[in-house]
Amino acid sequence: MTTRDRVMELAAKALARVMLPLAHLNAPGHARHVTCQWALGLRFPNEDLTGLTPATYAAFTTARTEAFWKDGQLIGLTSGHRDAAVQHRMYIESLHKPGKPVLHPAESGHVRGTALDVRPMEGARWLEENGERYNLYRTYDNEWWHFEYRLRRPERLPYPGAVRAYR
Ligand SMILES: [Zn+2]
Repeated sequence: MTTRDRVMELAAKALARVMLPLAHLNAPGHARHVTCQWALGLRFPNEDLTGLTPATYAAFTTARTEAFWKDGQLIGLTSGHRDAAVQHRMYIESLHKPGKPVLHPAESGHVRGTALDVRPMEGARWLEENGERYNLYRTYDNEWWHFEYRLRRPERLPYPGAVRAYR
C-alpha cells in the first residue's frame, strides 16, 4: 500500500467514525452500512459495482460492512462485472501469454456478474477467511484477489480453466 493509500484509509475510517451518529439520525438501522459506503467511496473513488447480480451485490456490500466495522478492513472492488466483448479481448490476449489463463466469456463469472476482484491483499485475506458466511469464495490458487458468489463452496482450482480433478 502506498503512503497516499494509507492516509486515505485512515481518513476514511476517521470519517466513518465521526459520521456514524449523524447517519443514525438520517438512516436508522442502516447507519453502519451508510457510513461504510462513505468510507469506501473516499478510499476507492473509482470502483464500479454496476452489473453485479443482485445477490452478489448484496453479499459483497454486507460482507464489506462487516469487515469494516468488525475488523477495520476496507475492501475495494478492482473489477466486477465485465462486458462479454471486454472479456473476449482479455481471453484472446491471454492465449499469447502462457501462465496467465483467462476464461472465455461463456465461462466467466465476471460476465455473469457473480465474480469480484478485490483489493488490497489484506482485504482479500479477510474475505477468504470470512466469505463463506456471505457465499463468497476464493476459487483459484493463483488469484488471491478473485472471489465468486456461489450457493455452495466450490472446489478450489489451481488456475482459471483448470480441469476439475476426478475424486
Ligand atoms: Zn477475477
